[in-house]
Amino acid sequence: LFISFEGIDGSGKSTQAKLLAGELRRLQYDVVEVREPGGTPLGEDLRGIVLDSTRTVSPRTELLLFSAARSHLVDTVIKPALSRGAIVIADRFADSSTAYQGGGRSLKEFEWFETFNDFVVAGRQPDRTYFIDVTPQQAKNRRDEGGSDRIEKEDIPFYKRVRDAYFRLYESNPDRIIRLDGAATAEAIRQNVLDDILGLLNP
Ligand code: C5P
Repeated sequence: LFISFEGIDGSGKSTQAKLLAGELRRLQYDVVEVREPGGTPLGEDLRGIVLDSTRTVSPRTELLLFSAARSHLVDTVIKPALSRGAIVIADRFADSSTAYQGGGRSLKEFEWFETFNDFVVAGRQPDRTYFIDVTPQQAKNRRDEGGSDRIEKEDIPFYKRVRDAYFRLYESNPDRIIRLDGAATAEAIRQNVLDDILGLLNP
């Protein structure tokens, strides 16, 4: 089973990804957690490059760097883990490119990303995606409490475009993507996610 968490920076998706992993491990499932970009030595190197706030990269280059990290992650970690029957939990996946480089950076149209992402992930999309939805203002208030990388320095209109793209993804993939209100308590979201996953694991 392949699960991904998506949402704008500050939505709380990383917290939820970790909570779910812990929960499933307690239930004796073999769980592999990956984060994007990163998750492999090459991916972590690329993460350092693409998120370095002292560098300027074009949206096109940004997309290719994120995608390089992702395709490597699919080949070396995600596919092998799924083949041995593990549950893979990804903190961001290909939808992030549609949302950030497609929506946020307005690089290419929505449909283009479907074909491109399919190539990058070699056809392996998640079985379930949780879109933790918060408004750009809610997310900014949370982020202001922590540090920020190059992309997290973007403004509210940028995040509005990212969120709109996530909505569009959600509307075009109703069987895969579940939207959760990120303004709810972490505990309520955790319970919703767990109930849904247990339903998928024990139909
Ligand atoms: O979720 P996390 O904070 O680890 O993501 C790292 C950064 O990479 C974030 O600022 C996120 O917005 C950005 N990102 C991006 N495009 C992607 C994936 C991540 O801009 N395709």
